[in-house]
Amino acid sequence: MNNTLGFSIDNIDPTADPRQDFYRFAAGRWLDQAVIPDTESQVGGFIGLYRQVNEQILSLLQNAAAHSVTAPHGSVEQQVGDFFAAAMDTERLDALGLTPLQPEFDRIDAITSSADLVSLVAHLLGTSGTPVLLIPYVMADRKQSDLNALGLYPGGLTINSRDVYVTEAYAPVRAALSAHIARMLQLAGTSAEVAAQQAQTILDLETALATAKLTPVEAANPETTYNKLTMAEVQALVPHFDLAAFFAQLKLATVPYLIVSEPRYLQALEALLVERPIEDFKIYLRWRVLNGVSQYLAPAIAEADLDFFEKQLQGKTELLPRAQRVTAQMQKSLGHPVAQLYVKEYFSAQTRLQVTELVDRIKAQFEARLRSNPWLDEPTRAFALNKLAKMVIRVGHPEKWIDFSSVEIRRDDYLGNAMRLNQFDLEHNLVKAGTPVVDDEFAIPGATLPTDINAAYQPAANKIEISAAILQPPFFFPQLELGVNYGAIGAVIAHEMTHGFDSIGRRYDAAGNLTDWWTANDNEEFEAFTAKLVEQYNQYEALPGVFVNGKLTVTENTADLGGVTIAYHALQAALTAASARNPIDGYSPEARFFLAWAQLWMSKTRPEVVQLLIGTDPHPPSEFRVAGPLLNVDEFFTTFNIQPGDALWRDQTDRVVIW
Ligand SMILES: [Zn+2]
Repeated sequence: MNNTLGFSIDNIDPTADPRQDFYRFAAGRWLDQAVIPDTESQVGGFIGLYRQVNEQILSLLQNAAAHSVTAPHGSVEQQVGDFFAAAMDTERLDALGLTPLQPEFDRIDAITSSADLVSLVAHLLGTSGTPVLLIPYVMADRKQSDLNALGLYPGGLTINSRDVYVTEAYAPVRAALSAHIARMLQLAGTSAEVAAQQAQTILDLETALATAKLTPVEAANPETTYNKLTMAEVQALVPHFDLAAFFAQLKLATVPYLIVSEPRYLQALEALLVERPIEDFKIYLRWRVLNGVSQYLAPAIAEADLDFFEKQLQGKTELLPRAQRVTAQMQKSLGHPVAQLYVKEYFSAQTRLQVTELVDRIKAQFEARLRSNPWLDEPTRAFALNKLAKMVIRVGHPEKWIDFSSVEIRRDDYLGNAMRLNQFDLEHNLVKAGTPVVDDEFAIPGATLPTDINAAYQPAANKIEISAAILQPPFFFPQLELGVNYGAIGAVIAHEMTHGFDSIGRRYDAAGNLTDWWTANDNEEFEAFTAKLVEQYNQYEALPGVFVNGKLTVTENTADLGGVTIAYHALQAALTAASARNPIDGYSPEARFFLAWAQLWMSKTRPEVVQLLIGTDPHPPSEFRVAGPLLNVDEFFTTFNIQPGDALWRDQTDRVVIW
């Protein structure tokens, strides 16, 4: 099996016809050989790189743990090393069992009033990091992007998908979830009979909360989730949850207003607080805390929880070794300290330079295309050009790292370490309420940390952060030619740039304010383009009878189309030397560009996971990201000589060109 990450001529199936099935042609040999490992739910370049980065970080953690005893207290090496050592001390964790969690359980047991409940919800945010019922979170006000506003969001659910709780298709998942909750409660000392009853209570409560939530398509509209309300107005939506007391306990500054994402949810919460006995909420909190911190408890408890979330829910047949699981988890909880070690060891200044140059070329091409764009009115064009010019694009890692040195990390206190880090994160965020925005660089765990395999556009800041970890194969190849690199990382970066102008991004101005800067005419044109994309992707069948949701995925599909188009033309501009146009392995730079794009997304995913993601993920399954955008790109048809009558033919009038 070909184990190289990403682009390789050996992945191509030369017996397949690119005009009938381009994915098969571009990746057929790889598809024939690729097997999803027992410990994974997917195989492909992305997950391969994820594993590679994980291994690299694991070696850094092991090294740190070997030296942390003598490292200065509060240093990156001490914190990272001791956290890892505590996590790997399974003997100690076994001996402790549930003991480290007992104080939290005791607090929950002691609740007798709704005031106690509110206090505990605040407490849990900071200790176990369990976002239950309501989440306060500070970020730039979407309509005044230089000011930090306090937002109020629905608490998480055990499975963060509304569909799982409300649609018929997920009835088997709900049954499995209920059984799992009961099993975990038994492990925590509840009798089988009571555990089964409690599981039902928990599921009922979550179903009521989930039902009130916006659907992912509704939630994608930033105007829908921007509800600027005074404290009194918010309190009126949920009178039985004392917000003043809640915020006081969280040491939040008094703010003149809040941004409420889902007022309907608050009303539903109010109804539950009135209807349900306090005992139900205690049962619910106990479960969420147990579930939230199970990974920091004895391995038997941690693995029982993963049995459900990793195996049953995602179809994996084996868990990853503990060290690798801890590595993944540490990248989130000790984000910047771990990333500092990673960048130092694995990211080069040369890569940063090369990618910065590529970014500049793509930006210049996007600008040129905006100038010559045939459908934009002049005012919209001028606004768009200004927005692109002001877009901040960072490569690799922050200039300034977040200082974690005040957090006490001990070699013998795994759960305590995690709790203190949660508390640090919470305070680091909430202290900003009402203050001017100071840009945190590469700071969102799971999205923009330098160790995340991601490039991300943030509309409210009009910025893109391209993490260090993504700047290697299968995304970026320092040793390969322009064609491949523009088809892979080039298209990804252009994809991110166009996010500033997709169905969501176009509602924000150059400074990141939610503003309508579109003429009515342009608005109509844009909607007509995206309606065609919605229709195109609605046809894609991901599993028998399960189709891609064109509306849910329209922003990503618009970005893929813009990304491929802009990167293609940027490549044409970059191919200045005659020699650069020579075929390599028999393929022109253009062919290699499209092949690189296809091979970037080649993958296989377990059906359980496809089923779960199809209702929540704004990206379509990877295989549709290959041909989806290409069928709208004229040069794709000419490069592979696709003609009317070929399976892939799409009439010129059906093709969509937006950017
Ligand atoms: Zn995207």
